[in-house]
Amino acid sequence: MKKNLLAFTVFSLIYNGGVCARSTSHEIHNHGAGRMTVAIEEGAVQVHLTSPAVNFLGFEYSPTSQSEVDSVVASKAVLSSPENVLSIQGSNCSISRVQVSVLGPAGRPRVTQEHHDQEHHDQEHHDQEHHGDGREPNEHSEIAAEYLFSCTDNQVPDSVNVHLFARFPGLQKIEVNWVSESGQGAGILLPKSSSIEFR
Ligand SMILES: [Zn+2]
Repeated sequence: MKKNLLAFTVFSLIYNGGVCARSTSHEIHNHGAGRMTVAIEEGAVQVHLTSPAVNFLGFEYSPTSQSEVDSVVASKAVLSSPENVLSIQGSNCSISRVQVSVLGPAGRPRVTQEHHDQEHHDQEHHDQEHHGDGREPNEHSEIAAEYLFSCTDNQVPDSVNVHLFARFPGLQKIEVNWVSESGQGAGILLPKSSSIEFR
């Protein structure tokens, strides 16, 4: 019963806060900012991070050059190693699952070859959109990352320290919501105060 309540609370936090939403409306998609939810239950800590892709990549359009494609791959690799992202204090936790996704145009590199045969050129839909450079100014992309930790001592952690600011200077602020079986809270992480306490 307790777990069901917690699951419901986390669901409300995530979806009312729009944290997992794919929407890129202005309220949610603030360049320079990110959102994090931390759900703590007996023996497990789940962290969900979303942030505009520009904070990590420097762009949000569909990659058109090899260096842009490499940049996406490199950023995903950094975020896929939890030790680059955060550390948990006060509980003995180890990572059990990581998932990092690039949502939106930045996650869809443009194919510039193969497409350009004559038959295709004759088709009506081979229009300017197809030939564009992919840099649609109004298109936004998000990076979403999820980390599931297993904790052997069943202690509620004291705090989480986030390491992203030094590595990604484009990221200036992370809004955090956390929930445990004994309480919940919120806070804002900044480059100069990058840890949140769960009490
Ligand atoms: Zn954007």
